[in-house]
Amino acid sequence: MRLINSGADLVEALDAVTQGVVDAVGFEVAAIRWLTGGHDLEVVSVAGNDDARDSLLGTRVPMSEIEVELEASESWGSLLFLPAGRLAGADDGWVPDRPAGVSAGSWQPEDTLRAPLRSPEGELLGILAVDLPRDGLRPNRATCELLEMYADLAGLALGAARRAQALERRVRLDADTQHAIATGVGFLGLQDLLDASARRTADALGAEFLWMRVLGSAEVGQQGAVAVVGTLETPPAPQAVVRQARDDAQEAWRRGHAVLATYRDGTWERTSSDWTGRGARVPVADGRAGWVRGAPAAVDQLAGARGAMSFLEPQGVQQVLLCPIGSGEECLGYFVTGRTDGETWAGEEIEAALRIARHLGQSVVSARLAVRERDLIARLESLDRYRHDLVSTVSHELRTPLASVMGYLELIEDATPQEHQQHVYREVVQRNLRRMLTLTDELLLLKRLGAGGPGEADDLDEPGLDVDLVDVVRGVVGSLAQRAGAAQVRLDVEPAPQQPLVVRGRPDELERVVLNLVANAIKYTPAGGRVAVGLVRDERVVDVVVSDTGLGISRDDQSRLFAEFFRSTNPAALALPGTGLGLSIVRAIVQRHGGSIQVVSEPGEGSTFTVRLPVGRTDRMD
Ligand code: ADP
Repeated sequence: MRLINSGADLVEALDAVTQGVVDAVGFEVAAIRWLTGGHDLEVVSVAGNDDARDSLLGTRVPMSEIEVELEASESWGSLLFLPAGRLAGADDGWVPDRPAGVSAGSWQPEDTLRAPLRSPEGELLGILAVDLPRDGLRPNRATCELLEMYADLAGLALGAARRAQALERRVRLDADTQHAIATGVGFLGLQDLLDASARRTADALGAEFLWMRVLGSAEVGQQGAVAVVGTLETPPAPQAVVRQARDDAQEAWRRGHAVLATYRDGTWERTSSDWTGRGARVPVADGRAGWVRGAPAAVDQLAGARGAMSFLEPQGVQQVLLCPIGSGEECLGYFVTGRTDGETWAGEEIEAALRIARHLGQSVVSARLAVRERDLIARLESLDRYRHDLVSTVSHELRTPLASVMGYLELIEDATPQEHQQHVYREVVQRNLRRMLTLTDELLLLKRLGAGGPGEADDLDEPGLDVDLVDVVRGVVGSLAQRAGAAQVRLDVEPAPQQPLVVRGRPDELERVVLNLVANAIKYTPAGGRVAVGLVRDERVVDVVVSDTGLGISRDDQSRLFAEFFRSTNPAALALPGTGLGLSIVRAIVQRHGGSIQVVSEPGEGSTFTVRLPVGRTDRMD
């Protein structure tokens, strides 16, 4: 494996350097060797002399050998000159067949002039060697400087290629992970996907900070997500910035560009990089080493975003890259990254960023689909469970009282029962019919509340009515007093509040809440026990507290208490009639009134249910 990218683009760039040296610097031969993975120097570009090209191209010399020669060379600025005869047997693989020069300043056939090719970080990547000056003289300072400039160019090209290769590796890694996601292996949710991708992308781009945002989708009913990487201390981006970034990203996605903003001379300028067309490479003149894309990079003022970006300036951010994330026609989000080191991103890096963004777009689509699928499956499963519970509860709960009703009706028909017996039979029939009525009522109510099962909740009329909870409690306790008495359970309101406690909502529903809780407390409290109903008011909430000294509820049961059709696992509680719908109705009502419900209970010691409701406007203490 080579240390550097051996792509055609790079060879083209190096050929342009050697040709430039031949054309402009005044040597008949120029050759570039690059450092391979095996620490050989291989000749990859030769210009100027066919004989030299034929004998040099593709040849390799171990680095260790060249090192000896470099050590023995004279330093001419950054160039290294090895005069003929200084090292026995030293040559760079090709010695021109020319007579030796006569004067002191003449170039000798065995003279060697080399320029080390370094990455911007100073790492040696290759060597540029020249031979046969056209004037036959050892080069002067001006020629050496020109040569150095070409060496800079070649160093940059090699450095960029190497960076691009490193990026490629990371991108491949990224693609692998995303492939795993896309195929459902080790599925990640959208947030997990973003967290992992933001980190990988920042690493791949060598970015100090990176914000990644996936826009919410009303169409698929999914929320957006944000991931932030880096230690840059910035205040949270203002809404206007987020909106601007979204608009920029959508525009950039439509045009197939990344947006590159550079802080230069006190202003932010925006550059668009073309990622679809390859563009031609052209050398940069004016003594500045480097290569730019030939495709025109439209530079315009960062419309409206100058203010938006101003919060980055104090952090020393000099360049910002905004990459749209998308799939097909749709821009799904973007990431923004920046650097404070004064470096600019190479075209290769921007292309890599856009590639990552495109991969990410696929992954976001997959993640969205997977989340949607998971939600649908969960909903179907829950519907299935609901249907199953519904059928079994309804058939059981209706069958028992129905059978009883039929039995007693037969008794009444068959015999001629005594007057008082007729009365008893009618009582039983009525009680069973009431039970059936309760069940059907509860089912209809649950359907109206939209809890658990299929169907939409009716709208809670906003803003609702003023409901005085003191009245509600008084009414419920009054209506259940007889039931409590019959069960030999003491039923208290404590302490009886004098002031009205008003919340906003539906009076019938709030009454239902208190009724179900107090009725349960009486039902699940053995004779001799006590049930207390209290109202506690805070500044913004009212608590309705229903406590009893009854059977209590195990911790396990508590976790499922509010689910539809749930009935206790405690045989003593199970022996009492019930549908398992009462508490789910309570919870659904409380939730749509903006409240919450809690239970505290110990088996054998009793239970306390607390419903917390927001205080109505008319009764605020403030
Ligand atoms: P039901 O009372 O019709 O069974 P609920 O939804 O009202 O249905 O209650 C669900 C379960 O919660 C009951 O079966 C009962 O086991 C338990 N439960 C409710 N309230 C109490 C209470 N105050 N004390 C003990 N257990 C209770």
